[in-house]
Amino acid sequence: MAWAERMHREASRWAAEGFDLLFPPRCVLCRGDIPPGSDAVESCASACHAAGTSLDRTLCQACMRAVSTDVSRCLRCGEPSAAGDGCSRCRGRRCDWDGIAVLASYGDRLRDAVLRAKHPGGIDVCQALATLLVRKQCDTFAAWQIDAAVPVPMHWFRRAVRGTNAADEAARRVARLMGVRFLVALSRSKATRMQNEIPVHQRRGNVSSAFHARRSVNGKRILLVDDVVTTGATLAACQQVLMAAGARAVFVTAIAKADRSEDAIRS
Ligand SMILES: [Zn+2]
Ligand SMILES: [Zn+2]
Repeated sequence: MAWAERMHREASRWAAEGFDLLFPPRCVLCRGDIPPGSDAVESCASACHAAGTSLDRTLCQACMRAVSTDVSRCLRCGEPSAAGDGCSRCRGRRCDWDGIAVLASYGDRLRDAVLRAKHPGGIDVCQALATLLVRKQCDTFAAWQIDAAVPVPMHWFRRAVRGTNAADEAARRVARLMGVRFLVALSRSKATRMQNEIPVHQRRGNVSSAFHARRSVNGKRILLVDDVVTTGATLAACQQVLMAAGARAVFVTAIAKADRSEDAIRS
């Protein structure tokens, strides 16, 4: 009975709205009340689904702004630069990947948010950050003509201890919002030491043989997704494995990028 279903739907909506008026949703970062309908985002020219995904049950406007604000970055190496595509540091040099775009620098508010996203129960925060990433970078992702989003894998033991993998959750969300496939194309065979626990010059060696292809990615343009980029050694190792497995191009993205001055991060 269509009218009964409609009545039921309307009643559920009234109940939800009434509940929100009595108990407004709280921002997961600052614990402040979020007024209903505050995250009304106009449609997006790149036809991603991030604009239509409301965050007004997760983050307040002030926190959204705080975690999304960043310096302008080079789209080839990811370092702060006004140049956009190819800064003076990387022009004429081969990069480890075909392009990089992130939400923002790993500092202050975004650091707190990412640490929360990495823990069990932080899935809401992780999804919200991935949505903000797509809202910010969907034009770039669209220009890259991505076929699939691939998460940087976590070793099974670390995943079992943590109970969650933020890169996985973020990649799943990015894939859904961009309308591309979510592909678990890599596995991690070594429980390498945390990259932030060892000197920068040893980091490539630490991860160089840790990753393996689980499947062919022949001819695909891949968006490799991680939660935080530090030196990029992990992403570079994954990029090599994906190219060897047939990828046509590998672009990378992450929620946060630790710039050189703040390299000594804790995770
Ligand atoms: Zn807030
Ligand atoms: Zn550059």
